[in-house]
Amino acid sequence: MVRSSGVAVVGGGVIGLACAWRAAAAGFAVTVHDPAPGSGASWVAGGMLAPVTEALPGEDDVLALGVASLDRWPSFATELSAAGTDPGLRTEGTLAVAVDPADRAELDRLGEHLARLGRDVDVLRGRSLRLAEPSLGPAVRSALSVPGDLAVDNRALLAALLAACRSAGVAFEPSRCETLPPADVVVLAAGAHSGALHPALREMIRPVKGEILRLRARRGVLPPPSRTVRAVVGGRRCYLVPRDRARVVLGATQYEVGFDTDVTAGGVRQLLDDAERVLPAIGEYALEESSAGLRPGSPDNLPLIGSLEPGVLVATGHSRHGILLAPLTAEAVLALLRGGSVPPEAASAEVNRFAPAMGVSEGAPRRGNAVTHGRDERSEA
Ligand SMILES: Cc1cc2nc3c(=O)[nH]c(=O)nc-3n(C[C@H](O)[C@H](O)[C@H](O)COP(=O)(O)OP(=O)(O)OC[C@H]3O[C@@H](n4cnc5c(N)ncnc54)[C@H](O)[C@@H]3O)c2cc1C
Repeated sequence: MVRSSGVAVVGGGVIGLACAWRAAAAGFAVTVHDPAPGSGASWVAGGMLAPVTEALPGEDDVLALGVASLDRWPSFATELSAAGTDPGLRTEGTLAVAVDPADRAELDRLGEHLARLGRDVDVLRGRSLRLAEPSLGPAVRSALSVPGDLAVDNRALLAALLAACRSAGVAFEPSRCETLPPADVVVLAAGAHSGALHPALREMIRPVKGEILRLRARRGVLPPPSRTVRAVVGGRRCYLVPRDRARVVLGATQYEVGFDTDVTAGGVRQLLDDAERVLPAIGEYALEESSAGLRPGSPDNLPLIGSLEPGVLVATGHSRHGILLAPLTAEAVLALLRGGSVPPEAASAEVNRFAPAMGVSEGAPRRGNAVTHGRDERSEA
């Protein structure tokens, strides 16, 4: 049954579920509307929590937002575990590697950029690199090691969020919304599909397709690296995210082709060709799954968090970083539900940076009074 009061979260991907969990745990009456909660891009993703190794010159806000959310990840994971299900946080760190001379020049530029930003980076070469990661091929001569860049099993995370939502009292309405549902406050978090649900988002959110593979090292074949490896190969990027001792996720292509989720033969070939330069044994692995998902793209690769109109909040547009940004996004949405402002670290994601283009009204977030489980959140300090 749909509750016509309280908080309605539209979309139960990592963003909607994280917001729903935090809101319900804080006392709000929350319903998640989604025909298939825990699906979408969040199910397909690689699970890197690696803003530093992905830092691009000119994207300093993306890096700062990512680092602020990464800082919150250990306690977010601990709280999820305490709610009953381990989300599979991995703390082995990340290596950035390159293959061709031109790729190595790009890696050097990344190292210099990170040094300018004062980030902690170690360089591994030769024997120390081979000892650390014996499965890396001879074309990989050096690596930047960023111990602070983490990873999570995105599917274990979704299971943990669903369990935490249920134990916090979140209700689920298993149907697709054609329009925003009746509620005191709606949180629009339908990922790449959010643009269809509010006119202000129509030109702001676009699907960015990504293909990704899941593989398993067969008996007698060198196992995957013990930590995430991000590689530049012939000017293209790919990454390997280990899941357990034998399994690894290989991602990801990136295309702007609308709402297309077919996995193409060319996409699979590109990923495998590139990965084989980094991890030669991968050709002997079992290919367990190929899938494609739609990243919710935004004009500046930063999410859109804030009020679209009284009673309608938005949390979408997380592009390549929705898993990483879930803890900070949920914290920001809870602050808005309580009538406050987003944390200063999330200011770069505020939707009002696009206010003139979107025609959004700033101000009170509520249509009515959000119903809580016996508590009025607005009375809290
Ligand atoms: C190949 C690939 C690899 C990625 N790797 C990483 C990574 O390593 N690290 C990282 O941080 N990010 C990664 N991302 C990005 C990340 O997956 C997304 O940013 C994130 O999942 C977005 O979460 P979301 O909840 O906004 O959207 P989604 O996960 O897409 O969820 C949207 C939900 O809304 C529901 N929905 C849609 N329309 C409606 C409707 N009308 N009514 C009700 N419900 C609706 C859907 O069923 C779905 O459950 C990757 C993405 C892809 C595609």
